[in-house]
Amino acid sequence: MNEKGASQESLNNVDAEISELIDNDLNRQNTHIHLIASENFASKAVMEASGSILTNKYSEGFPGRRYYEGCETVDQIEQLAIDRACELFEADHANVQPHSGSSANMAVYLSTLEPGDTVLGMSLDQGGHLTHGSPVNFSGQVYNFVGYGLDEDTELINMETVYNMALEHKPKLIIAGYSSYSQSLDFQKFREISDEVGAHFMVDAAHFIGLVAGKVVDNPTKYADVVTATTHKALRGPRGGIILTREEFAKDIDKNIFPGAQGGALNNQIAAKAVCFKEALTKEYQKYAKQILNNAKALSDSFQEQGLRVISGGTENHIVLVDTRSVDEELTGKEAGILLNDRGITLNRNAIPFDPRSPFITSGIRMGTPAVTTCGMKENELTQVGYLISEIMKNRSDENKLNELEAEVRSLATSFQPYG
Ligand SMILES: *Cc1c(COP(=O)(O)O)cnc(C)c1O
Repeated sequence: MNEKGASQESLNNVDAEISELIDNDLNRQNTHIHLIASENFASKAVMEASGSILTNKYSEGFPGRRYYEGCETVDQIEQLAIDRACELFEADHANVQPHSGSSANMAVYLSTLEPGDTVLGMSLDQGGHLTHGSPVNFSGQVYNFVGYGLDEDTELINMETVYNMALEHKPKLIIAGYSSYSQSLDFQKFREISDEVGAHFMVDAAHFIGLVAGKVVDNPTKYADVVTATTHKALRGPRGGIILTREEFAKDIDKNIFPGAQGGALNNQIAAKAVCFKEALTKEYQKYAKQILNNAKALSDSFQEQGLRVISGGTENHIVLVDTRSVDEELTGKEAGILLNDRGITLNRNAIPFDPRSPFITSGIRMGTPAVTTCGMKENELTQVGYLISEIMKNRSDENKLNELEAEVRSLATSFQPYG
């Protein structure tokens, strides 16, 4: 440390504790099989931009309209990010400043709703997100959310039900989008319903925007007034959010991000978003997105071959949900999640539709294939992963068998390391 200015010494010298903890997590990332559906591994280029000197610049406002001097360069960076996002998602307008998916959603609610207004979105316990009206989140405290779920027999969204709920509740805003649903969404039908009841239509594409970027699922910007998303999930960019809108909503959305919901932009993260959009505009990224889907299908098929029950009957995206009661009635999502992580496979417990257990215990596990696909795994490996997960759960009281299975997991993980 010197009095003259910020130290140029490396992290390792300045703070050995944090440096070592980062190394520990690098080791965890390199030695587990990662199936958390919302996680991915950003490229070195994305992390370089994210860790750059741009963290030092204050820039409230938008390119060309700032409240601080010295923004010439960050203006160019943000404009590049906006232009690339518009090209990638075929959108009229992009706001690349949201610090997260949650603040992107907050800005849309501020733009389209008054406190107490009704919103129709997917129920949390059937696949929706915290910001879609959870009572512990601002969304549920400020607005009146009503939730559509899945049909009990098909475990699919029934658009007839959505339509009837829209007629009954007359929402100001209808949201399509999920955190744990493995099927396609009928954006056209959502649009028609929104028009009929005079609601704005928002798609929360946080989970699947990477698949939109890779052109392997329908593009919601064609139908929605506003699309919100994260950049760190399947899209493989830095942590952050983005909002894509039609021209007519652009000014209002911008105003509700700054000064509505946030202060200064995170210029380092915006630069990293620009890098991630550039990466996603390539043919290679499109191949990657296709492989995410093929891998999810292989994983889902593998579970079914092992006799496990896959929620909604399979997958059409990157997500696979499994009913742990199909291993045996006693097995909970919580126990399965802890057991698998101990044996080198990281995923999360997840409520399944009509789950009789509490959200902390659950009867399901949720998996996604973006991260393992980044590591180079293909269908054969995902078939093997499905087998290993099934066998670990089935043999959870047989220590010898578990050790054998764990050895297979570790060997597969080290053959497909993100940062090896
Ligand atoms: C992940 C997610 C978000 C929020 O993203 P954060 O960056 O964690 O705030 C919002 N909506 C949906 C549907 C998500 O899956």
